[in-house]
Amino acid sequence: MTAQRTAKKIVSKTTTVKGSDSIKTLLILGASGDLTGRLLLPGLARLIANNRADGITLAGAGSDAWTAQQWNDRVKSVFDDAAKDAKTTGKTALNKVAKTSTYHQVDVTAKGDLAALLATLEAPIAVYFALPPAVSQKACEVLTAKELPAGTRLVMEKPFGSDEASAHSLNETLAALVPEDHIHRVDHFLGKSTVFNILGLRFANRLLEPLWNNAHIEKVEIVFDEDLTLENRARYYDRAGALKDMIQSHLLQIMAIIAMDAPATIGERDVRDGIAAVLRASFISTDFTSSTRRARYTAGKIGRRKVPDYVAEEGVDSANNTETLAEVEVHIDNWRWAGVPFILRSGKSLGAARKEAVITYRSVPHLPTGFKGVDSPSKLHIGFGPDTLKLDLDVNGPGDIFELNRVYLETELATDLLLPYGEVLEGVLTGDPLLSVRGDTAEQCWRIVEPTIKAWKANKVPMDEYAAGSAGPSNWDNTL
Ligand code: NDP
Repeated sequence: MTAQRTAKKIVSKTTTVKGSDSIKTLLILGASGDLTGRLLLPGLARLIANNRADGITLAGAGSDAWTAQQWNDRVKSVFDDAAKDAKTTGKTALNKVAKTSTYHQVDVTAKGDLAALLATLEAPIAVYFALPPAVSQKACEVLTAKELPAGTRLVMEKPFGSDEASAHSLNETLAALVPEDHIHRVDHFLGKSTVFNILGLRFANRLLEPLWNNAHIEKVEIVFDEDLTLENRARYYDRAGALKDMIQSHLLQIMAIIAMDAPATIGERDVRDGIAAVLRASFISTDFTSSTRRARYTAGKIGRRKVPDYVAEEGVDSANNTETLAEVEVHIDNWRWAGVPFILRSGKSLGAARKEAVITYRSVPHLPTGFKGVDSPSKLHIGFGPDTLKLDLDVNGPGDIFELNRVYLETELATDLLLPYGEVLEGVLTGDPLLSVRGDTAEQCWRIVEPTIKAWKANKVPMDEYAAGSAGPSNWDNTL
Protein backbone atom coordinates (compact mmCIF):
# COMPACT_ATOMS: atom_id res chain seq x y z
CA MET A 1 0.00 0.00 0.00
CA THR A 2 1.59 3.31 -0.98
CA ALA A 3 0.29 6.67 0.08
CA GLN A 4 -0.26 9.18 -2.69
CA ARG A 5 1.74 12.32 -2.09
CA THR A 6 -0.60 15.28 -2.10
CA ALA A 7 0.25 18.63 -3.58
CA LYS A 8 0.75 20.10 -0.11
CA LYS A 9 4.46 20.17 0.64
CA ILE A 10 5.67 19.62 4.16
CA VAL A 11 8.60 22.04 4.06
CA SER A 12 7.51 25.53 4.96
CA LYS A 13 7.77 28.35 2.48
CA THR A 14 9.29 30.63 5.06
CA THR A 15 12.30 28.65 6.16
CA THR A 16 14.87 31.10 4.83
CA VAL A 17 15.04 34.14 7.02
CA LYS A 18 16.88 36.92 5.26
CA GLY A 19 18.84 38.72 7.96
CA SER A 20 19.32 42.47 7.87
CA ASP A 21 23.08 41.98 7.82
CA SER A 22 23.44 39.61 4.86
CA ILE A 23 27.03 38.59 4.35
CA LYS A 24 29.07 40.31 1.63
CA THR A 25 32.31 38.29 1.90
CA LEU A 26 32.81 34.62 2.64
CA LEU A 27 36.37 34.10 3.88
CA ILE A 28 37.43 30.46 3.94
CA LEU A 29 40.40 29.82 6.24
CA GLY A 30 41.97 26.56 5.11
CA ALA A 31 41.78 27.23 1.38
CA SER A 32 44.01 24.28 0.51
CA GLY A 33 42.29 21.83 2.87
CA ASP A 34 40.26 18.70 2.26
CA LEU A 35 36.96 20.03 3.65
CA THR A 36 37.20 23.12 1.45
CA GLY A 37 37.78 21.16 -1.75
CA ARG A 38 35.49 18.21 -1.15
CA LEU A 39 32.51 19.75 0.63
CA LEU A 40 32.58 23.52 1.11
CA LEU A 41 33.27 24.72 -2.43
CA PRO A 42 30.80 22.25 -4.02
CA GLY A 43 28.14 23.32 -1.48
CA LEU A 44 28.81 26.97 -2.23
CA ALA A 45 28.80 26.33 -5.98
CA ARG A 46 25.34 24.72 -5.85
CA LEU A 47 24.08 27.63 -3.76
CA ILE A 48 25.39 30.18 -6.25
CA ALA A 49 24.20 28.14 -9.24
CA ASN A 50 20.68 28.32 -7.82
CA ASN A 51 20.97 32.08 -7.37
CA ARG A 52 20.73 31.75 -3.61
CA ALA A 53 23.96 33.61 -2.74
CA ASP A 54 23.56 36.81 -4.72
CA GLY A 55 26.24 39.45 -4.33
CA ILE A 56 28.68 37.27 -2.41
CA THR A 57 32.46 37.65 -2.77
CA LEU A 58 34.69 34.67 -2.00
CA ALA A 59 38.12 34.86 -0.40
CA GLY A 60 40.41 31.98 0.50
CA ALA A 61 43.30 31.98 2.97
CA GLY A 62 46.01 29.63 4.16
CA SER A 63 49.50 29.67 5.54
CA ASP A 64 50.89 28.32 2.24
CA ALA A 65 52.35 30.73 -0.30
CA TRP A 66 49.73 29.87 -2.90
CA THR A 67 49.51 32.04 -5.98
CA ALA A 68 46.17 33.66 -6.83
CA GLN A 69 46.12 31.33 -9.83
CA GLN A 70 46.35 28.19 -7.67
CA TRP A 71 43.33 29.22 -5.63
CA ASN A 72 41.39 30.37 -8.68
CA ASP A 73 42.07 27.04 -10.38
CA ARG A 74 40.75 25.21 -7.34
CA VAL A 75 37.58 27.31 -7.22
CA LYS A 76 37.06 27.18 -10.96
CA SER A 77 37.36 23.41 -11.27
CA VAL A 78 34.57 22.98 -8.69
CA PHE A 79 32.42 25.81 -10.06
CA ASP A 80 32.77 24.57 -13.66
CA ASP A 81 31.30 21.26 -12.52
CA ALA A 82 28.31 22.97 -10.93
CA ALA A 83 27.84 25.18 -14.00
CA LYS A 84 27.12 22.11 -16.17
CA ASP A 85 23.60 21.74 -14.71
CA ALA A 86 22.97 25.42 -14.00
CA LYS A 87 20.67 27.82 -15.83
CA THR A 88 22.24 30.83 -17.59
CA THR A 89 21.78 33.10 -14.58
CA GLY A 90 23.46 30.50 -12.36
CA LYS A 91 26.37 30.14 -14.80
CA THR A 92 26.87 33.89 -14.84
CA ALA A 93 26.80 34.09 -11.07
CA LEU A 94 29.34 31.26 -10.73
CA ASN A 95 31.63 32.92 -13.23
CA LYS A 96 31.49 36.22 -11.43
CA VAL A 97 32.29 34.77 -7.99
CA ALA A 98 35.15 32.64 -9.37
CA LYS A 99 36.65 35.59 -11.27
CA THR A 100 36.58 37.99 -8.33
CA SER A 101 37.78 35.47 -5.76
CA THR A 102 41.07 36.25 -4.02
CA TYR A 103 43.71 34.28 -2.08
CA HIS A 104 45.49 35.58 1.00
CA GLN A 105 48.52 34.10 2.72
CA VAL A 106 48.11 34.42 6.45
CA ASP A 107 49.10 32.60 9.62
CA VAL A 108 45.84 32.88 11.52
CA THR A 109 47.56 32.05 14.81
CA ALA A 110 49.84 35.09 14.59
CA LYS A 111 48.42 38.01 16.56
CA GLY A 112 47.01 40.73 14.32
CA ASP A 113 47.46 38.89 10.97
CA LEU A 114 43.89 37.69 10.54
CA ALA A 115 42.56 41.00 11.83
CA ALA A 116 44.66 42.84 9.23
CA LEU A 117 43.20 40.65 6.48
CA LEU A 118 39.63 41.21 7.71
CA ALA A 119 40.14 44.96 7.54
CA THR A 120 40.75 44.69 3.78
CA LEU A 121 37.56 42.74 2.98
CA GLU A 122 34.05 44.07 2.40
CA ALA A 123 31.92 43.65 5.53
CA PRO A 124 29.86 41.94 6.82
CA ILE A 125 32.20 38.96 6.60
CA ALA A 126 31.57 35.29 7.37
CA VAL A 127 34.82 33.72 8.56
CA TYR A 128 34.75 29.97 7.92
CA PHE A 129 37.29 28.12 10.08
CA ALA A 130 38.03 25.10 7.84
CA LEU A 131 41.14 24.48 9.93
CA PRO A 132 42.40 21.85 12.34
CA PRO A 133 40.43 22.43 15.58
CA ALA A 134 43.48 23.49 17.61
CA VAL A 135 44.39 26.07 14.95
CA SER A 136 40.80 27.44 14.92
CA GLN A 137 40.84 27.77 18.69
CA LYS A 138 44.19 29.57 18.69
CA ALA A 139 43.02 31.88 15.88
CA CYS A 140 39.96 32.88 17.93
CA GLU A 141 42.05 33.40 21.05
CA VAL A 142 44.30 35.92 19.32
CA LEU A 143 41.38 37.88 17.84
CA THR A 144 39.62 40.66 19.72
CA ALA A 145 36.05 41.92 19.31
CA LYS A 146 37.35 45.34 18.26
CA GLU A 147 39.23 43.81 15.32
CA LEU A 148 36.09 42.29 13.85
CA PRO A 149 34.15 44.35 11.32
CA ALA A 150 30.47 44.92 12.20
CA GLY A 151 28.22 41.95 11.49
CA THR A 152 31.05 39.36 11.39
CA ARG A 153 29.87 35.75 11.62
CA LEU A 154 32.17 32.98 12.84
CA VAL A 155 31.66 29.53 11.39
CA MET A 156 33.17 26.71 13.43
CA GLU A 157 33.64 23.13 12.24
CA LYS A 158 33.29 20.01 14.29
CA PRO A 159 34.66 18.74 16.60
CA PHE A 160 33.54 21.59 18.83
CA GLY A 161 35.82 21.00 21.81
CA SER A 162 36.79 17.57 23.04
CA ASP A 163 34.74 17.47 26.24
CA GLU A 164 32.27 19.64 28.15
CA ALA A 165 34.96 21.81 29.73
CA SER A 166 36.82 22.53 26.47
CA ALA A 167 33.54 23.21 24.63
CA HIS A 168 32.63 25.65 27.41
CA SER A 169 35.96 27.40 27.21
CA LEU A 170 35.71 27.66 23.39
CA ASN A 171 32.20 29.08 23.83
CA GLU A 172 33.57 31.72 26.18
CA THR A 173 36.30 32.65 23.68
CA LEU A 174 33.72 33.03 20.90
CA ALA A 175 31.21 34.87 23.09
CA ALA A 176 33.87 37.52 23.76
CA LEU A 177 34.05 38.14 20.00
CA VAL A 178 30.49 38.11 18.59
CA PRO A 179 26.94 37.49 19.86
CA GLU A 180 25.74 33.88 20.02
CA ASP A 181 23.43 34.27 17.01
CA HIS A 182 26.49 35.21 14.92
CA ILE A 183 28.27 31.94 15.78
CA HIS A 184 27.56 29.00 13.48
CA ARG A 185 28.66 25.62 14.83
CA VAL A 186 28.29 23.51 11.76
CA ASP A 187 26.34 20.28 11.82
CA HIS A 188 26.00 19.54 8.11
CA PHE A 189 24.11 16.45 9.03
CA LEU A 190 21.20 18.39 10.30
CA GLY A 191 19.94 19.27 6.83
CA LYS A 192 17.26 21.88 6.61
CA SER A 193 14.81 19.51 4.97
CA THR A 194 15.43 16.83 7.63
CA VAL A 195 14.72 19.27 10.45
CA PHE A 196 11.58 20.68 8.88
CA ASN A 197 10.37 17.31 7.62
CA ILE A 198 10.39 15.99 11.19
CA LEU A 199 8.78 19.13 12.61
CA GLY A 200 6.17 19.22 9.83
CA LEU A 201 5.30 15.58 10.24
CA ARG A 202 5.03 15.81 14.02
CA PHE A 203 3.22 19.11 14.38
CA ALA A 204 1.03 19.30 11.28
CA ASN A 205 -0.73 16.00 12.02
CA ARG A 206 -3.08 15.79 14.98
CA LEU A 207 -2.98 12.02 14.51
CA LEU A 208 0.60 11.80 15.78
CA GLU A 209 1.21 14.34 18.52
CA PRO A 210 -1.30 13.09 21.16
CA LEU A 211 0.38 9.65 21.01
CA TRP A 212 3.95 11.00 20.97
CA ASN A 213 4.82 10.15 24.58
CA ASN A 214 5.65 7.38 27.03
CA ALA A 215 2.02 6.27 27.34
CA HIS A 216 2.02 5.11 23.72
CA ILE A 217 5.61 4.79 22.53
CA GLU A 218 7.71 1.81 23.59
CA LYS A 219 11.09 2.92 22.23
CA VAL A 220 12.78 5.13 19.66
CA GLU A 221 15.77 3.94 17.65
CA ILE A 222 18.00 6.23 15.62
CA VAL A 223 20.37 4.30 13.38
CA PHE A 224 23.14 5.53 11.11
CA ASP A 225 24.85 2.44 9.74
CA GLU A 226 27.31 3.19 6.96
CA ASP A 227 28.67 0.79 4.36
CA LEU A 228 31.63 3.15 3.94
CA THR A 229 34.93 2.39 5.65
CA LEU A 230 37.58 4.84 6.79
CA GLU A 231 37.88 6.44 3.34
CA ASN A 232 41.35 7.85 4.13
CA ARG A 233 40.16 9.75 7.18
CA ALA A 234 42.15 7.77 9.77
CA ARG A 235 43.96 10.89 10.94
CA TYR A 236 40.70 12.30 12.26
CA TYR A 237 38.55 9.22 12.83
CA ASP A 238 41.07 7.13 14.74
CA ARG A 239 41.11 9.78 17.48
CA ALA A 240 37.34 10.22 17.44
CA GLY A 241 35.54 6.89 16.89
CA ALA A 242 31.83 6.32 16.29
CA LEU A 243 30.62 7.70 19.60
CA LYS A 244 32.26 11.12 19.24
CA ASP A 245 32.04 11.31 15.46
CA MET A 246 28.34 10.55 15.14
CA ILE A 247 26.43 10.10 18.39
CA GLN A 248 27.88 13.00 20.38
CA SER A 249 27.11 15.42 17.61
CA HIS A 250 24.60 14.40 14.97
CA LEU A 251 22.41 11.70 16.50
CA LEU A 252 21.74 13.54 19.75
CA GLN A 253 20.58 16.54 17.75
CA ILE A 254 18.21 14.41 15.69
CA MET A 255 16.96 12.74 18.87
CA ALA A 256 16.20 16.16 20.33
CA ILE A 257 14.15 17.19 17.29
CA ILE A 258 12.19 13.96 17.46
CA ALA A 259 11.59 14.39 21.20
CA MET A 260 11.06 18.15 21.57
CA ASP A 261 7.84 19.87 22.53
CA ALA A 262 5.93 21.82 19.89
CA PRO A 263 7.69 25.11 19.10
CA ALA A 264 5.43 28.14 18.64
CA THR A 265 7.28 29.06 15.44
CA ILE A 266 9.94 27.47 13.25
CA GLY A 267 12.31 30.35 13.97
CA GLU A 268 15.76 29.59 15.35
CA ARG A 269 14.98 30.72 18.92
CA ASP A 270 11.92 28.53 19.40
CA VAL A 271 13.38 25.47 17.67
CA ARG A 272 16.77 25.67 19.35
CA ASP A 273 15.16 26.31 22.76
CA GLY A 274 13.14 23.10 22.24
CA ILE A 275 16.27 21.14 21.31
CA ALA A 276 18.14 22.49 24.34
CA ALA A 277 15.33 21.56 26.77
CA VAL A 278 15.45 17.93 25.58
CA LEU A 279 19.23 17.68 25.77
CA ARG A 280 19.34 19.16 29.27
CA ALA A 281 17.01 16.36 30.41
CA SER A 282 18.96 13.58 28.65
CA PHE A 283 21.40 11.12 30.17
CA ILE A 284 22.96 7.69 29.68
CA SER A 285 22.67 5.36 32.66
CA THR A 286 25.98 4.72 34.41
CA ASP A 287 25.34 0.99 34.24
CA PHE A 288 27.52 1.16 31.13
CA THR A 289 27.63 -2.56 30.30
CA SER A 290 23.88 -2.53 29.73
CA SER A 291 23.39 1.06 28.51
CA THR A 292 26.26 1.14 25.99
CA ARG A 293 28.07 -1.14 23.53
CA ARG A 294 31.07 -0.70 21.29
CA ALA A 295 32.68 -2.75 18.56
CA ARG A 296 35.36 -2.62 15.89
CA TYR A 297 35.34 -4.17 12.45
CA THR A 298 37.66 -6.97 11.38
CA ALA A 299 38.53 -7.98 7.82
CA GLY A 300 35.63 -8.75 5.53
CA LYS A 301 33.92 -7.85 2.28
CA ILE A 302 31.40 -5.11 1.56
CA GLY A 303 29.84 -6.15 -1.72
CA ARG A 304 32.87 -6.93 -3.85
CA ARG A 305 35.18 -4.66 -1.93
CA LYS A 306 37.73 -6.33 0.34
CA VAL A 307 38.14 -4.49 3.63
CA PRO A 308 41.12 -5.06 5.96
CA ASP A 309 40.96 -5.22 9.76
CA TYR A 310 40.30 -1.73 11.12
CA VAL A 311 43.63 -1.81 12.98
CA ALA A 312 45.45 -2.67 9.73
CA GLU A 313 44.00 0.37 7.92
CA GLU A 314 46.58 3.00 6.97
CA GLY A 315 47.06 5.61 9.70
CA VAL A 316 45.31 3.63 12.44
CA ASP A 317 47.08 3.20 15.77
CA SER A 318 45.73 0.15 17.61
CA ALA A 319 46.76 1.79 20.91
CA ASN A 320 43.91 4.29 20.42
CA ASN A 321 41.46 1.40 20.86
CA THR A 322 38.94 3.18 18.64
CA GLU A 323 35.44 1.80 18.15
CA THR A 324 33.91 1.80 14.67
CA LEU A 325 30.41 0.93 15.88
CA ALA A 326 28.72 2.44 18.93
CA GLU A 327 25.31 2.04 20.51
CA VAL A 328 23.97 3.91 23.53
CA GLU A 329 20.64 4.01 25.29
CA VAL A 330 19.69 7.57 26.17
CA HIS A 331 16.86 8.46 28.55
CA ILE A 332 15.06 11.77 28.67
CA ASP A 333 14.02 12.62 32.19
CA ASN A 334 10.83 14.58 31.60
CA TRP A 335 7.07 14.03 31.82
CA ARG A 336 6.70 13.06 28.17
CA TRP A 337 9.57 10.60 27.85
CA ALA A 338 10.40 9.12 31.27
CA GLY A 339 10.99 5.38 30.84
CA VAL A 340 11.28 5.39 27.02
CA PRO A 341 14.69 4.27 25.73
CA PHE A 342 16.16 6.24 22.82
CA ILE A 343 18.66 3.85 21.26
CA LEU A 344 21.29 5.62 19.18
CA ARG A 345 23.56 3.53 16.99
CA SER A 346 26.12 4.38 14.35
CA GLY A 347 28.99 2.57 12.71
CA LYS A 348 31.17 2.05 9.68
CA SER A 349 31.86 -0.85 7.33
CA LEU A 350 28.48 -2.48 7.80
CA GLY A 351 26.90 -4.67 5.15
CA ALA A 352 24.12 -2.23 4.35
CA ALA A 353 23.68 1.49 4.81
CA ARG A 354 20.70 2.26 7.00
CA LYS A 355 19.81 5.76 8.10
CA GLU A 356 16.54 6.09 9.90
CA ALA A 357 14.65 6.73 13.09
CA VAL A 358 12.14 4.07 14.07
CA ILE A 359 9.38 4.89 16.52
CA THR A 360 7.87 1.72 17.96
CA TYR A 361 4.44 2.08 19.56
CA ARG A 362 3.28 0.03 22.51
CA SER A 363 1.15 -3.02 21.73
CA VAL A 364 -2.63 -2.62 21.93
CA PRO A 365 -3.93 -3.31 25.48
CA HIS A 366 -6.14 -6.14 24.23
CA LEU A 367 -6.46 -7.63 20.76
CA PRO A 368 -10.05 -8.87 20.42
CA THR A 369 -10.04 -12.67 20.73
CA GLY A 370 -10.68 -14.28 17.40
CA PHE A 371 -8.12 -12.44 15.34
CA LYS A 372 -5.11 -14.43 14.15
CA GLY A 373 -1.88 -13.80 12.28
CA VAL A 374 0.56 -11.01 12.97
CA ASP A 375 0.00 -8.85 16.00
CA SER A 376 3.02 -6.53 15.94
CA PRO A 377 3.26 -3.03 17.31
CA SER A 378 2.79 -0.16 14.88
CA LYS A 379 6.04 1.46 13.78
CA LEU A 380 6.82 4.76 12.16
CA HIS A 381 10.07 4.96 10.17
CA ILE A 382 11.60 8.31 9.30
CA GLY A 383 14.37 7.74 6.74
CA PHE A 384 17.19 10.23 6.28
CA GLY A 385 18.85 11.16 2.98
CA PRO A 386 16.64 10.66 1.03
CA ASP A 387 14.02 11.60 3.59
CA THR A 388 11.17 9.09 3.62
CA LEU A 389 8.28 8.10 5.82
CA LYS A 390 6.91 4.62 6.35
CA LEU A 391 4.17 3.52 8.70
CA ASP A 392 3.83 -0.19 9.53
CA LEU A 393 0.27 -1.19 10.42
CA ASP A 394 -1.65 -4.45 10.83
CA VAL A 395 -4.76 -4.79 8.67
CA ASN A 396 -7.14 -7.64 7.88
CA GLY A 397 -6.73 -9.97 4.97
CA PRO A 398 -6.31 -10.30 2.08
CA GLY A 399 -8.34 -13.50 1.86
CA ASP A 400 -9.07 -14.46 5.44
CA ILE A 401 -10.76 -11.44 7.07
CA PHE A 402 -9.73 -12.65 10.57
CA GLU A 403 -6.07 -12.85 9.64
CA LEU A 404 -3.97 -9.77 10.43
CA ASN A 405 -1.20 -8.82 8.04
CA ARG A 406 1.48 -6.19 8.09
CA VAL A 407 1.18 -3.42 5.50
CA TYR A 408 3.21 -0.30 4.91
CA LEU A 409 2.11 3.21 4.06
CA GLU A 410 5.04 5.05 2.63
CA THR A 411 5.94 8.31 0.98
CA GLU A 412 8.94 10.45 0.17
CA LEU A 413 9.47 13.67 2.09
CA ALA A 414 10.63 16.97 0.70
CA THR A 415 14.22 17.50 -0.44
CA ASP A 416 16.24 20.61 -1.18
CA LEU A 417 18.29 21.31 -4.30
CA LEU A 418 21.28 22.21 -2.17
CA LEU A 419 24.02 19.93 -0.92
CA PRO A 420 24.28 19.71 2.90
CA TYR A 421 27.11 22.26 2.98
CA GLY A 422 25.08 24.51 0.68
CA GLU A 423 22.33 24.51 3.31
CA VAL A 424 24.85 25.30 6.03
CA LEU A 425 26.31 28.17 4.00
CA GLU A 426 22.88 29.54 3.14
CA GLY A 427 22.14 29.82 6.87
CA VAL A 428 25.45 31.60 7.40
CA LEU A 429 25.06 34.00 4.48
CA THR A 430 21.47 34.94 5.29
CA GLY A 431 22.08 35.26 9.01
CA ASP A 432 19.90 32.35 10.11
CA PRO A 433 21.59 30.18 12.76
CA LEU A 434 18.70 27.69 12.95
CA LEU A 435 20.76 24.81 11.56
CA SER A 436 23.76 25.66 13.73
CA VAL A 437 24.37 23.94 17.04
CA ARG A 438 23.81 26.48 19.82
CA GLY A 439 26.61 26.88 22.36
CA ASP A 440 24.69 25.47 25.31
CA THR A 441 23.60 22.37 23.40
CA ALA A 442 27.18 21.75 22.18
CA GLU A 443 28.16 21.55 25.86
CA GLN A 444 25.14 19.40 26.75
CA CYS A 445 26.01 16.86 24.05
CA TRP A 446 29.46 16.42 25.60
CA ARG A 447 27.94 16.20 29.10
CA ILE A 448 25.67 13.35 27.95
CA VAL A 449 28.44 11.21 26.40
CA GLU A 450 31.40 12.10 28.60
CA PRO A 451 30.80 9.47 31.33
CA THR A 452 30.54 6.83 28.58
CA ILE A 453 33.79 8.02 26.97
CA LYS A 454 35.52 7.70 30.36
CA ALA A 455 34.03 4.24 31.04
CA TRP A 456 35.15 3.01 27.61
CA LYS A 457 38.62 4.45 28.12
CA ALA A 458 38.82 2.54 31.41
CA ASN A 459 37.78 -0.60 29.50
CA LYS A 460 34.63 -1.05 31.57
CA VAL A 461 32.76 -2.10 28.42
CA PRO A 462 34.15 -4.86 26.19
CA MET A 463 35.19 -4.07 22.61
CA ASP A 464 33.16 -6.48 20.47
CA GLU A 465 34.04 -7.37 16.90
CA TYR A 466 32.14 -7.66 13.62
CA ALA A 467 33.31 -8.61 10.18
CA ALA A 468 33.26 -5.74 7.69
CA GLY A 469 30.19 -6.23 5.50
CA SER A 470 28.20 -7.96 8.24
CA ALA A 471 25.19 -6.54 10.10
CA GLY A 472 27.22 -6.05 13.29
CA PRO A 473 28.55 -8.20 16.16
CA SER A 474 26.76 -11.54 16.42
CA ASN A 475 25.91 -10.93 20.10
CA TRP A 476 24.08 -7.62 19.32
CA ASP A 477 20.49 -7.18 18.20
CA ASN A 478 21.37 -5.77 14.79
CA THR A 479 17.75 -5.60 13.67
CA LEU A 480 17.06 -2.93 16.27
P1 NDP B 1 43.10 19.76 6.33
O1 NDP B 1 44.24 19.33 7.18
O2 NDP B 1 42.89 19.09 5.02
O3 NDP B 1 43.23 21.33 6.04
C1 NDP B 1 43.56 22.24 7.03
C2 NDP B 1 43.81 23.61 6.43
O4 NDP B 1 44.23 24.46 7.49
C3 NDP B 1 44.85 23.67 5.36
O5 NDP B 1 44.27 24.29 4.24
C4 NDP B 1 45.93 24.57 5.96
O6 NDP B 1 46.39 25.46 4.97
C5 NDP B 1 45.19 25.37 6.98
N1 NDP B 1 46.03 25.85 8.08
C6 NDP B 1 46.64 25.09 9.02
N2 NDP B 1 47.30 25.90 9.88
C7 NDP B 1 47.09 27.18 9.48
C8 NDP B 1 47.49 28.45 9.97
N3 NDP B 1 48.24 28.59 11.08
N4 NDP B 1 47.06 29.56 9.32
C9 NDP B 1 46.29 29.44 8.23
N5 NDP B 1 45.88 28.27 7.71
C10 NDP B 1 46.26 27.15 8.33
O7 NDP B 1 41.80 19.66 7.26
P2 NDP B 1 40.28 19.35 6.81
O8 NDP B 1 39.94 20.21 5.66
O9 NDP B 1 40.09 17.89 6.67
O10 NDP B 1 39.45 19.77 8.12
C11 NDP B 1 39.21 21.11 8.47
C12 NDP B 1 38.17 21.16 9.59
O11 NDP B 1 36.94 20.61 9.12
C13 NDP B 1 38.54 20.32 10.81
O12 NDP B 1 38.03 20.97 11.96
C14 NDP B 1 37.77 19.02 10.60
O13 NDP B 1 37.49 18.37 11.82
C15 NDP B 1 36.51 19.54 9.96
N6 NDP B 1 35.80 18.55 9.15
C16 NDP B 1 36.41 17.96 8.07
C17 NDP B 1 35.73 17.06 7.28
C18 NDP B 1 36.38 16.42 6.10
O14 NDP B 1 35.73 15.57 5.48
N7 NDP B 1 37.61 16.79 5.75
C19 NDP B 1 34.32 16.69 7.58
C20 NDP B 1 33.76 17.39 8.71
C21 NDP B 1 34.49 18.28 9.44
P3 NDP B 1 47.93 25.63 4.67
O15 NDP B 1 48.42 24.27 4.22
O16 NDP B 1 47.97 26.66 3.63
O17 NDP B 1 48.52 26.05 5.98
